[in-house]
Amino acid sequence: MTEAHGPGIAALPDGADVVIVGGGHNALTAAAYLARAGRSVVLLEAADHVGGAAVSQRPFDGVDARLSRYSYLVSLLPRQVARDLGLDLTLVRRRYSSYTPDPGDPSRGLLVDGEADDDARRAAFDRVGAGDDVAAWTEWYDAVGLLARAIAPTLTQPLPARDDVAADLARAGGDAGRAIWRDVVERPIGEAIERRFRSDLVRGVVATDALIGTFADLDSDLAANRCYLYHVIGGGTGDWDVPVGGMGAVSGALAAAARDGGAQLVTSARVSAVTPGVR
Ligand SMILES: Cc1cc2nc3c(=O)[nH]c(=O)nc-3n(C[C@H](O)[C@H](O)[C@H](O)COP(=O)(O)OP(=O)(O)OC[C@H]3O[C@@H](n4cnc5c(N)ncnc54)[C@H](O)[C@@H]3O)c2cc1C
Repeated sequence: MTEAHGPGIAALPDGADVVIVGGGHNALTAAAYLARAGRSVVLLEAADHVGGAAVSQRPFDGVDARLSRYSYLVSLLPRQVARDLGLDLTLVRRRYSSYTPDPGDPSRGLLVDGEADDDARRAAFDRVGAGDDVAAWTEWYDAVGLLARAIAPTLTQPLPARDDVAADLARAGGDAGRAIWRDVVERPIGEAIERRFRSDLVRGVVATDALIGTFADLDSDLAANRCYLYHVIGGGTGDWDVPVGGMGAVSGALAAAARDGGAQLVTSARVSAVTPGVR
C-alpha cells in the first residue's frame, strides 16, 4: 500500500500493478518499460512537474530558448533505451569539453578540444607548459576508450563477472588493456594520474572526472575510480552530448513514452509511506 498526500492524489486510481515513487528520468524510464510490458503503472511525483534534476526552463522573457536547469549533458543514456522507447530526442556533440585556467598564470589555460589533431593538441599543451604530457594524455585516453568499449555494453546486460570484463579488455587491448584496468578499476586512480602525468594542471583536468560532485579523494580508496568510470564510459566513447531543448527534452520524451504505453503520471503527490505486502 502506498500513501500519498498533495493535490495530485485526487487523480489516483484504485489500484495498479506497479506504483513508482518519484518522477525523475530514472522513474520515467522504468514507467515506460513497465507500461510497454503490459503492467498497469502509476507514478507519483511530489513536485508539480516530472523530470527531477533533468528539467529545462525558459530564463529569458519572450525568448523561446529552453535551457537545462540543473543536469545538462547526456552521456549515460544507453542508445538502446532511446531506440526501445522511440524517444524523440536530438543530442548534439560538444566540441570543447573543458577550459582550465592555469592557477599560476590565469591569462592562459588548457583547452580540451575534441576536434584537435596532434599539432593542435601539442600547441594547446605547450601554451600551459605541459608539452611533455601530450604523449601520456593520448595514451591514457586511447586506453580509456578501450575500457569504455568493454564496459558500456554491460550497462544494459545482466551484471557480468568482474574477471570476465577484465579478460575481454585484455583480449581487446593487450598490455594497454591490462594496465588501464589496473589503473582505473583496481588501484586508487590518483596513483596512475600522478605516475602518468607531470603537469599539475593536466593532472587536475584528468582528476576532475574522478572527483566532480563527490566528497571522494583520489588516493585512499576506489570511490573516485567509480566516479571516473561513470564519466568516461557513456556510449562507449565517454562523450557528453548537449540535448536540444535542455534536459527537459529528455524527461519530456521519457514521459511521453511512459504515457503512450499507458502509464499514469501523477504530479503534486508526495508519497509519505509505503507498506509492503498490503494492497
Ligand atoms: C547541479 C547538477 C548537475 C548535474 N549534471 C549532470 C549532467 O550534466 N549529466 C548527468 O548525467 N547527470 C548530472 N547530474 C546528476 C543527475 O541529475 C542525477 O543523476 C539524476 O537526476 C538522477 O535521476 P533520478 O531520476 O534518479 O532522480 P532525480 O532526478 O533526483 O528525481 C527524483 C524525483 O523524485 C521526487 N521525489 C522524491 N521523494 C519523493 C516522494 N516522497 N514522493 C514523491 N516524489 C518524490 C523528486 O521530487 C524528484 O522529482 C547533475 C546533478 C545536479 C544536482
